[in-house]
This record gives sequence, C-alpha cells and structure tokens, in this order.
Amino acid sequence: VGTARAAAISAVTNYKPSAPPMNFQEEPTSELFNANVFSRAVMKKRLPKSVFKALCKTIDAGAKLDTSVADVVASAMKDWAIEKGATHYAHVFYPLTGFTAEKHDSFLSPDGTGGALAEFSGKQLIQGEPDGSSFPTGGIRVTFEARGYTVWDVTSPAYILENANGTTLCIPTAFVSWTGEALDKKTPVLRSMQALNTQAQRVLKLFGHTDGALVSSTAGPEQEYFLIDRNFFFARPDLLNAGRTLFGAKPPKGQEFDDHYFGAIPERVLAFMLEGEREMFKLGIPVKTRHNEVAPGQFEIAPMFEFANIATDHQQLVMTTLKRVAEKYGMTCITHEKPFAGVNGSGKHVNWSLGSASQGNMLDPGDTPHENAQFLLVCAAVIRAVHKFQGLLRAVVASAGNDHRLGANEAPPAIISIFLGDQLTDIFEQIKKGGANSSLPKGTLTVGVDVLPPLPKDAGDRNRTSPFAFTGNRFEFRAVGSNQSIAGPLVAMNTIVAESLDYCATKLEEATGGDASKLHGELQKLLTEIMNEHGAIVFNGDGYSQEWHDEAEKRGLLCLKTTADALPILEEPEVKELFEKYGVLSERELESRLETYLEQYVMSVNVEANLTLEMAKTLIFPAAIRYQAELASACANLKAVGYEFDTDTLDTMTALVKSLQDSIAELNSAMGKNGNECMKAESRHCCDEVLPAMLKVRAVADELEGIVADDLWPLPTYQEMLFIK
Ligand code: ADP
Ligand code: MG
Repeated sequence: VGTARAAAISAVTNYKPSAPPMNFQEEPTSELFNANVFSRAVMKKRLPKSVFKALCKTIDAGAKLDTSVADVVASAMKDWAIEKGATHYAHVFYPLTGFTAEKHDSFLSPDGTGGALAEFSGKQLIQGEPDGSSFPTGGIRVTFEARGYTVWDVTSPAYILENANGTTLCIPTAFVSWTGEALDKKTPVLRSMQALNTQAQRVLKLFGHTDGALVSSTAGPEQEYFLIDRNFFFARPDLLNAGRTLFGAKPPKGQEFDDHYFGAIPERVLAFMLEGEREMFKLGIPVKTRHNEVAPGQFEIAPMFEFANIATDHQQLVMTTLKRVAEKYGMTCITHEKPFAGVNGSGKHVNWSLGSASQGNMLDPGDTPHENAQFLLVCAAVIRAVHKFQGLLRAVVASAGNDHRLGANEAPPAIISIFLGDQLTDIFEQIKKGGANSSLPKGTLTVGVDVLPPLPKDAGDRNRTSPFAFTGNRFEFRAVGSNQSIAGPLVAMNTIVAESLDYCATKLEEATGGDASKLHGELQKLLTEIMNEHGAIVFNGDGYSQEWHDEAEKRGLLCLKTTADALPILEEPEVKELFEKYGVLSERELESRLETYLEQYVMSVNVEANLTLEMAKTLIFPAAIRYQAELASACANLKAVGYEFDTDTLDTMTALVKSLQDSIAELNSAMGKNGNECMKAESRHCCDEVLPAMLKVRAVADELEGIVADDLWPLPTYQEMLFIK
C-alpha cells in the first residue's frame, strides 16, 4: 500500500489517547460556564458603579458608548486577565475571508529603568491598528491608504483564550478602513441589528408598546462537521489544501443504512466532544446538543440561541475550538460543505428570530395564532422580505464549497422558498381570502402505549427539504454552508426584515392616521395584500422533486444554481438601495464585498484545479501505469510459457490511462484560459469550464480506483477515512 496511506492506516490502528480522560466529578462542567469571560458579573464586581451602568446602557439599550469610561474598563480588564495568567491582549476581528483574525500585543512596556510595566490603556482597548493590508478588501483600501483600524465592540464580551502557546485576553472588535468603511463581517451585523430595532419599534408602537426595550435579532446556529483521523488528512493533499477530497470512489457501504445517524457516539469522538464543550463553556458559549449526523464521520453541535452579534462571534469560536480540540485527539475537524462526494454534505442551520426583554420572542405564535395580530404581521413581514429578496438570500450563502451541497438532493435546493407548516399555511390561506377566523388545533400526540406520556404536538411537521422553514417560534435558514460565517446571512435577514417592517409600519401609520381603533381592519387588509403578492414563496412540499423545480419556475421564483449565478445579485439596484437606505452597507462597501467574494470563489476553484492536476499527474497516473505494467508483464510472461492471458483488464486499464491523460490535457487547456481581468467573467469561466474539466479527471481517476491493485493505490480511500474510528 502506498507509503503515506500505509503509514496512516497503521497510525490509526495503533491510536492511543495522549491524555488521561478528564475527571468531570472533580471539575464539574457546570461550574466552568463563563469562567474565562469578562462577563457582566465580573464587570459588576470590578468596575465602579457608574461605569458599569454606562456599559450596560450600551449593551442592553444600544445607547451611544461613553468613551470616557474606557481607561477604567481597560485597567480592570487587564488586572482580571493578568490574574488569569494572560501576558498578551489581542483585538479579534472578522475579515471578509470568513475566518477569525487576531493581532497580539504584550501588556508589558519598558519602564525606562530596565524593568517592564504591565499597561493597558483605554485607547488600546478602544482602537487597534493591525497591519491587515493583506486581507481582501475588494478595492476599498488601496495600499497608499492602507490603514485599517480595529474598534472595540462593547456588546460582545472580552474573554481569555488558553492554549498551548499561552494565555491571551481577546477583545472582539470591528475592522474598518481609514475612511470608516467596513472591512469586516461584524460591522454590518451591528448596523443591521440597529436598523431592525428602529423599524421594529415603529411596529410595536402601533400595537401600543412604547417602552422602547431594544428589539434584537437572535440566532442559534447548528454546526455540522466531519471528523477524520489526522493521519488520513495529511495523506490527502486535497483535504489538506482544499478542505475537500477531489478524488475518491464511493465506498461499497455508504450511508444507505442510516446506521450512523443519531447512533452511539464513538469513544474517541465523545472524549473530543466533552473536552470541546468544556472549552466552549469556559468561553460562555451555551452549547447544548450534540449528535451523529447522517453521513459516516459526520457530527453536529448546537448552542442555545443568543443575540445575533454574540452568536456570530461565538460561532466563529465554535469552529476554531472544534478544530483545536480535534487535533488533541488525533483528528481533524473538517468544516467544508462537501468534503466527500456521494455522502451528505455539511450545513449550518441558522435559526433566526427577533424579540425584546418586554416582548419576548416576536415570532412566537401562541396557542391561537389567528388571533395574534402582532405575530401575524411580523410573520407576514418575513414572508414578504424573503420573497422580495430571495436572490439576496441565495447570494449570501454562495461559495465554492456550498455549491456542491445546495441542490444536491440532501441539502435544500438552490431555490429559496418558505415552509410554514399546516397550521400557519391554513391561517395565511384564510388571510388571502380576507381574514383568518380559526387556527387548526395543535392537539396532543398519543403513542398508544399507556406507560408513555402524551406529548403536546407541534403545530407542523418538519420538512427537511426546505431552505427556509418556520420551526415553531423562529425561522430556520438551512441553506447556509458549514464553513461560512453566519454574519452575511444574519445581515441579510435583519436588513430585509427591517425593510419589510418599515413598509408595514408606514402603510399602517398612514392608513390609521394614529387612530388605534382602525388598526385591526387596516392590518387585515395589509396582510391580505402581502399574502396575495408574496404568497408564492410559500411551499410545503418536497423541495427535492422535479415537480417543485417546474412549479417554482411557473411561480417566477429564482433558481440560482451556482455562486457565479448568485453573487451578481449583489449588484442589483434593489439590493444596493436596500443596504444603503438602512445604513448597513454603502454602495462602495457592497461593491467591495461582491469583488472579494467573486475573487474568493475564483481562487478556491483555481487551487482545486491545480491540485487536481498535480494529484492526477504525480499520484494517480503513476499508480495507474504501474498496475498497467504489472498486467502487461503478467501477460507477456504467460504468453512466453504458452498460456493465454485474458487481456480485458489490461485493455480497460490502457483505455483509462489514455482517458486520464486526455482529461488532464483538457483541464490544462481550460486553466490556460484563466486570467480575465473582470472577476465576474473569471467566475463564469471557473464555473462553466474549469469545474467540469476537473470533474472529468475525477471521473476517470475514480474508475481507476476500482481497478488498480489496492497495494498500489496511493490515496486513503473513502472507506478508510470515513469508517475507521
Ligand atoms: P433541530 O431540531 O433543528 O436540529 P436544535 O435543537 O439542534 O434543533 O437547534 C435549534 C436551534 O434553534 C438552537 O440553537 C436553538 O437555541 C435555536 N433557537 C430556539 N429559539 C430561537 C429563537 N427565538 N431565535 C433564534 N434561535 C432560536
Ligand atoms: Mg435544525
């Protein structure tokens, strides 16, 4: 067996945990929650009352930050961090790559007498200047104005990160250019939350709620991921460099039996999960559920929902923590959307809602939703928003990786639609006809066995095929890719719903002229209008079926299959106006994002294409001709001693070797046409020519994998990677 592959198999077989199992009795996880967070409790204890109050006002009510308190906060933060062993602080920021970036600085400065002093000023807390000139900015920051600043986000708590290389105080920040333009994922999240609050307040006012409690969007992201042994990861140049396998025949036993889904979690994986969760708990991330996913080697972790901004920062930490802890257990955590062809890909279901301290969850329908006017309005606003901006929602989940998942009969289709479930669909159907008078009962679920308790029944069954589903008291956006930052999807959700609430509030304010007694009648009319105009987005059936694709076309819904199709939506006047109007992204900021995302798509495809060529030429082709030579010499030897040799296999091999060479040449020539100045044209070329040419090479290689002698095959197989634990 090929050397790297052989070494990997032997290492996996001989795996022994490096650390003793953790003792959960001695150090109960429950006591660790928030242990490494500069939490409200810590602030309350360590800050003067007035300063603490000022901060809370900003965090809870969105009040302008009083920067005069910064020195006091910085000093308290520093003392707390140093007590916890920190030597450095880092401004953590979220560039457009979707990754997390950090710049570390030491607390220590020379004191002028040969010693050093621990210092951390308010200015250092508020503002940093990382030399982030290599981050993609889509043209916003040309090198001569290369200054970029990180700006303290007081709404997301600072925390301590412990790892093998020391202990660091981490401060979540926004990353902006010298001209104040957003260069990151966080800034628009914060702006979109502000826009949503403004418009939601107008709606609440119509219903007589004027306490002004901040309306926030909430998010609960479920993360799917794969785990494989690290030895396999390093024996696969494609996984190592592209995050997914570019070659690999489907194993004889795939996921058909569903025997992995929710099955018992393997020992090593469970140990990893326990430690990972513990680390996340310390960071204040409320992780809640874990289970096996559909594909072999696939798992999921989900926290409880939090405010969108914090959920976004925490989600980034979940990904980095999973990766870091997996290494300790000799595994690699793969967050790519489609690491293995032919088995399920990974998504990130983003559960989304909005609410406030006094209103609670504004998407909670209650027991009789047809009487819950405020809920119906908010829900209809979401329906309108998703219909009106379906293209945008598709664009914000577009990436080279996610293209392999969406529409691949396992994940939601590339068509955006909304699943409402029976109860709400019935109500909105009544509304279309003029008004809703009843709600279908939720009922109870009886199992037919006396010893099992009756359960309250959910108002609707689940529908796994819908990209955007109402799940009881929130919407679940399921088209998001497992490797993506959830910031983009949340910015889109917050902003389109803000626009819709604005539309509704404006209409109702005008129609009622401030007369509350007219509200119900006018609301009824508005809801009917919205459902008649935008009801086409509602679909409760099977999103995988051909019928739905035909039907969606008839309804005029968009089907944007690839990133190259979807990203240009960001250029549409409607989208530009949307973001501009609500102060979320200026035209220039939006353009820079489009440019950056197109470039990232192109770069990903090019890396994969180069890897495909390299692996085909240096790993697969040599294995193929070695086997061909073996067959040929067996044939010659047998003939020499007077035996016949059936040359079927040799013929097939010879034909495949020829096809491999041809397909390599084809990919080479497709790559030769790279280099369009215009990123949009280049992305089209990648999509229409490079990717299909890569697939041809793969098809031949995968066929070879089924024929070439196993001991000559150089790459760990799907079977080995996915099933050896
Ligand atoms: P599923 O059955 O869809 O896999 P999970 O329990 O794994 O459900 O995840 C559901 C997610 O939805 C959790 O992260 C949960 O906190 C989140 N969620 C629940 N209520 C809300 C809400 N009001 N806003 C946002 N997210 C929510
Ligand atoms: Mg879910």
